[in-house]
Amino acid sequence: MNEIINLGDYESKADVTRDVGPDWQYMGHPTPALGGLKGSALATPFALGEAATRTAELTPHDATARYRQWLWAQMRGHDPGVLEALRAIGPTTVLACWCDPTPCYCQVIARAALWLRKQEVAVASDRAERCATDRAVSPDSAPRPKPRRGALAGCPASASCIPTG
Ligand SMILES: [Zn+2]
Repeated sequence: MNEIINLGDYESKADVTRDVGPDWQYMGHPTPALGGLKGSALATPFALGEAATRTAELTPHDATARYRQWLWAQMRGHDPGVLEALRAIGPTTVLACWCDPTPCYCQVIARAALWLRKQEVAVASDRAERCATDRAVSPDSAPRPKPRRGALAGCPASASCIPTG
């Protein structure tokens, strides 16, 4: 699971990088703090009671539960910004926020990023397997079956056996 840090412990972005290395990402809303932080597509729309941009007084537990539902809805709806931001989180990316040690939506993000990585690895290997099967049943000398829509177009040229959707 990704490490989560509280940016309140730091004076500047350089400070953060010195402490945790360059692979960290801010998960919150835009702020001038630390010399200016760009907002994340994953920033929660459900603020905790303490947050400056609060829309409701929520306990960390409520806010996290609501965030989980919100994030899942964005993922199912293939929100491009949200998916791109999740994919940018690697196994060792440090997530930066203002809450730690209070639990917050960064924990949901860490789990979702992990889930997405596993999911996409599974989809990629499933597609590779189907490509291999297609190769076995349709050698290059035989007329090629019409490629199925989407990812398998171009198979069996293995370089194009890459998920496209
Ligand atoms: Zn947080």
